[in-house]
Amino acid sequence: MPVLHNLVSNQELKARMLAETEPRTTVSFYKYFTIADPLAFRDVLYLQLTKLNVFGRIYVATEGINAQISVPASRYEEMKAMLYAFDPALDNLRMNIALDDDGKSFWVLRLKVRERIVADGINDETFDPSDVGGYLKADEVNAMLDDPHAVFVDMRNHYEYEVGHFDNALEIPADTFREQLPMAVDMLQENKDKKIVMYCTGGIRCEKASAWMRHNGFNNVYHIEGGIIEYARRAREQGLPVRFKGKNFVFDERMGERISDDVIAQCHQCGAPCDTHVNCKNDGCHLLFIQCAECAEKYHHCCSPVCMEELALPPEEQRARRAGRENGNKIFNKSRGLLNMTLKIPMPEK
Ligand SMILES: [Zn+2]
Ligand SMILES: [Zn+2]
Repeated sequence: MPVLHNLVSNQELKARMLAETEPRTTVSFYKYFTIADPLAFRDVLYLQLTKLNVFGRIYVATEGINAQISVPASRYEEMKAMLYAFDPALDNLRMNIALDDDGKSFWVLRLKVRERIVADGINDETFDPSDVGGYLKADEVNAMLDDPHAVFVDMRNHYEYEVGHFDNALEIPADTFREQLPMAVDMLQENKDKKIVMYCTGGIRCEKASAWMRHNGFNNVYHIEGGIIEYARRAREQGLPVRFKGKNFVFDERMGERISDDVIAQCHQCGAPCDTHVNCKNDGCHLLFIQCAECAEKYHHCCSPVCMEELALPPEEQRARRAGRENGNKIFNKSRGLLNMTLKIPMPEK
């Protein structure tokens, strides 16, 4: 029986990775397709990727695969060929190479079988997530933006929409993707004869949403291939006008990459034009909100005078106050004030 997991300590593995001299390439990909036996699929893939010295995090479910991995640069082509041949559904899989990345993000390969690659809350056996809408490339997206019969639908969270979106894109104002799916179907009923263009950050959410719309009787459904990330990259590469306004929120220390110079959001404290997301510096709060530089100084990087006060207390007292307090990941919601979410929001670099 081959060993299908790591036997060496995490620390040791990280040290080994850092000692490597060969550059690594960070790649992400996903694909919706039916995997009849995810456990068997996982085990064979694990062995193949281990041979190529691939690290990363991969989820496998009956609905498909979602992966973020790093591969030694010299073996990238070999890995691509292996994946393309691994399953007919993976042939010509779109791979996104991370650009501003040192390839040091992973030092172990974790390949997990999950119920879903994107949690959707759908309990409908007849739903086929691989029956997706049409893919749109950057030039086709721009053409759709000028089409009066097209409706753009943003399938991201409200705080992502707040700092950047396509002009006139419909916001689906639920707190989670699972709540957004039925809401999108309801909200778009009167647009059933229109072209529905769905988008999200990297494509994985809107692609499933497009399948859900089709499942619910919408016949003209599209989604942006590779999401906002791929759209912006292709449009720039091809010299097309980039028509996404503002920032694309991303889940790393940057909390967003600027796509256009437009600042479409406001500071949650003073209302000045601003689209900088921060976490409240009070560890007992950690609220994700938008704060301008002036307010950051005025409130000592806190979301409120209360947090400012708490942050000024001796550390032991702060800890005592935090103990027993419900401290989920809080996100400021413009329309409803505070709300609790289970999403993991990264700590900003201090
Ligand atoms: Zn402000
Ligand atoms: Zn706070």
